[in-house]
Amino acid sequence: MNAAVGVDIGGSRVKAVRLVEGEIEEQAVRPTPATVAGILEAAADLATRLGSGLPLGVGLAGLVDHRRGVLVWAPHLPGEEVAVSAPLGERLGVDVTVDNDANLASYGEHVAGGGRGTTLTVTVGTGIGMGVVVDGEIFHGRAHAGEVGHVTVEPNGAPCPCGRRGCWETVVSGRRLTSDAVAVLGAGSDVSDLVSAAVDGHPAAAARLDAAGRWLAWGIEALVLAFDPHEVVLGGGVAAAGDYLLDPVRRRLAATEGAGRRQSTTVRVGILGPYAGAIGAAMAATPAHEG
Ligand SMILES: [Zn+2]
Repeated sequence: MNAAVGVDIGGSRVKAVRLVEGEIEEQAVRPTPATVAGILEAAADLATRLGSGLPLGVGLAGLVDHRRGVLVWAPHLPGEEVAVSAPLGERLGVDVTVDNDANLASYGEHVAGGGRGTTLTVTVGTGIGMGVVVDGEIFHGRAHAGEVGHVTVEPNGAPCPCGRRGCWETVVSGRRLTSDAVAVLGAGSDVSDLVSAAVDGHPAAAARLDAAGRWLAWGIEALVLAFDPHEVVLGGGVAAAGDYLLDPVRRRLAATEGAGRRQSTTVRVGILGPYAGAIGAAMAATPAHEG
């Protein structure tokens, strides 16, 4: 039986699934603890509750060294050089696979989409993450490939949590669209309110979403030109805006360099939803993956 537990540790929530033969049998979510010890405790507790004795995959929102099983650094998580796979493996007595959350989400989408060719997944949540999977293998560079949310697109732009200015995720991300929603619709508004208002004909809401869609399209076009993937998957909370953000991407790619001569790239919303990172973590930890 192919079964594993996946735990996805994000800046605000820890999500977990037990995956059996590719199907979710159980899932759980809780707030991300504020300390390293608390985070490891939450991961161990979820792994025990959902699938004691099963292999464990752990995704982390930050710079991960997958070979050493270490969280090197993360903008929204505590600690540096945090050993993750060794203490969890010792405590639980199981194999533990650790990787960046966007890499694992991309792995999950790649497998769910048939597992062939090159899948490039752009996860637009609080910030932007990216994962590239080629014929079933995550592309890591040395360890930290995919940090495209911090490519500079506006040299004198807004401050980014990474400490620099004008990163891609300052112009399109959950954080940016939430602040757009508050600016246009008032305090307490969120991304789904912004989309609803745009659909109802609110010009300022539509203008903000159009601008985000253009920034997303320019960035994804650059990635498509660099990687020539079979498919681009949009994941993360902002994927809920759906065609509002994907139509500008499709229009841009339809007119990119060599369009009509190069093979087209499919652009789709992720099919795994908000648990994509946890599902991908479980898939990557499933023993059959190694066989
Ligand atoms: Zn940045």
